[in-house]
Amino acid sequence: MTELADRITVLTGAGISTASGIPDFRGPQGVWTKNPAAEAMFDIDSYLSDPDIRVLAWRQRLHNPAWTAEPNAGHLALVELEHQGRLRGLVTQNVDGLHQKAGSSPALVHEIHGTIWFVDCLSCGRQMPMADVIPRLEAGENDPACLDCGGILKSATISFGQSLDQTVLDASVEAARDCDLFVAIGTSLQVYPAAGLCDEALGSGARLVIVNAEPTPYDEQAAAIHTDPIEQVLPRLFN
Ligand code: ZN
Repeated sequence: MTELADRITVLTGAGISTASGIPDFRGPQGVWTKNPAAEAMFDIDSYLSDPDIRVLAWRQRLHNPAWTAEPNAGHLALVELEHQGRLRGLVTQNVDGLHQKAGSSPALVHEIHGTIWFVDCLSCGRQMPMADVIPRLEAGENDPACLDCGGILKSATISFGQSLDQTVLDASVEAARDCDLFVAIGTSLQVYPAAGLCDEALGSGARLVIVNAEPTPYDEQAAAIHTDPIEQVLPRLFN
């Protein structure tokens, strides 16, 4: 079925990166599932009001597995799909940057939950590469402030309580509506608006294919479901 589609939009979640050593925060073995207190680091109100939470968050960023993780066969299969000229858009819930590291064109990748590779000042809005801040952490700062205005810095990821980037969201919805096949990969499809992209695609007449180990709320509407490991399924589907 996938070989017949020539305009494919893909949605990826944590499941595509677990084989690259990036933990799934929400899955059965997820960090939050095992330690709900860790979730406070990802809540914008806690982050703004509690310096201890920021220190914890920066310590995690300093040791984030994304810095050294390598893309796996799943990411690479999506690069191949792009080379075939069949990739309409790649919407990802992941913040690890592995799609770009694999070789996917940044213009096609819509990071709806932001990216850990950049840092935002929550006061003046200045954005800087994470690579500019990491050396300050290594030099001993535990809650680095904006060098322009002294404001609180945070990775350019979407925390609970923060709104999504409307431009990124609009581009994602457009890609979901303008495809003949929508493939949801490694996502539980329980977080909106990401899950709603399935509705956008189905509503526009696209077929839905799901690649996920666990059942999802959209399984009944899917034309096909694959539960084998993603890094095995995607090369089979797209290469
Ligand atoms: Zn600032």
